[in-house]
Amino acid sequence: MENETRDVVIIGTGPAGLTAAIYASRANLKPLVVDGEQPGGQLMITTDIENYPGFPEGINGPEMMGRFREQAERFGTEFVGGSVTEVDLSRSPFCINLGGDCELLTKTLIIATGANAKWLGLPSEEKYRGRGVSACATCDGFFFKDSNVFVIGGGDTAMEEAFFLTRFASKVTVVHRREEFRASRIMSLRVEKNPKIALELNQVVDEILGDGQKVTGIRLKNVKTGELTEHACDGVFIAIGHAPNSKIFERQLNIDEYGYIETSKNSSETNVPGVFACGDVQDYTYRQAITAAGSGCMAALDAEKYLESIR
Ligand code: NDP
Repeated sequence: MENETRDVVIIGTGPAGLTAAIYASRANLKPLVVDGEQPGGQLMITTDIENYPGFPEGINGPEMMGRFREQAERFGTEFVGGSVTEVDLSRSPFCINLGGDCELLTKTLIIATGANAKWLGLPSEEKYRGRGVSACATCDGFFFKDSNVFVIGGGDTAMEEAFFLTRFASKVTVVHRREEFRASRIMSLRVEKNPKIALELNQVVDEILGDGQKVTGIRLKNVKTGELTEHACDGVFIAIGHAPNSKIFERQLNIDEYGYIETSKNSSETNVPGVFACGDVQDYTYRQAITAAGSGCMAALDAEKYLESIR
């Protein structure tokens, strides 16, 4: 596609990637951004965002990401469609392959490929996503005031989401497919002791029920007896983990056991000098648009400093 060596290539167009692009383009580094599989990232499937500072009336996800992109373009960011199929970080400049013979050469690489919430894979879950089905209590919990919600999963995320939801919902039921939670003892205990939280153990979701417009209930299946039970509810939060999009960097970067790219403390640096990671691909703790944007800013500043050091 081009043989010119870029100063900065950014992979990913969620809040992290686009914030990195805004900062890098304003620093006159002429970044090239690879859109990725889901341009705009996870916010493209989010309806109202009410916790991003600066938008007191709230804003919907696609509109917000459109604005991020516009701002990056304003300072000269270039975009290329498609997904990266392969990278070679062992050579300098780094080589980024977009499939076919499309190769990019770059002195620095900012990885902002994000993570995806894992879903159960039920058609009803897909049908009611954004209409009662969510994978983010921090994002959507506020819409479930005084309601009856179910949280699916038995790890720390499920415990945290269930606990958080008790601030809004009148009743929260945690559904887990085994007898024992995977979550840490302290988190499980906090959930078990909360009078607003009920447990449905040894149960899996058989179906999410709705009236065509929104969720009205859930059907559970007992994994031991096969018994089906229906429960009325207003919302279902799927909290069965996240999958960071880090596969193409395996064996080239340090990646933890859950697939998150490791960065050094208070920095976006990976173990390869000149390669930086930001946003949800390196953050399993916060996972918010605002923290992703903040870490995108860090990555651009780190890349700028690195470029100065090799000049
Ligand atoms: P985990 O992989 O730890 O847990 C996922 C849970 O979902 C498990 O209980 C699993 O069941 C269940 N599950 C997975 N797939 C399905 C399915 N198809 N149907 C039903 N249930 C399913 O992911 P988390 O996101 O909870 O945590 C990831 C990491 O992040 C962990 O290290 C965790 O400690 C950490 N974390 C820490 C927090 C904190 O300290 N504040 C908060 C949130 C996360 P099973 O147990 O049977 O496998």
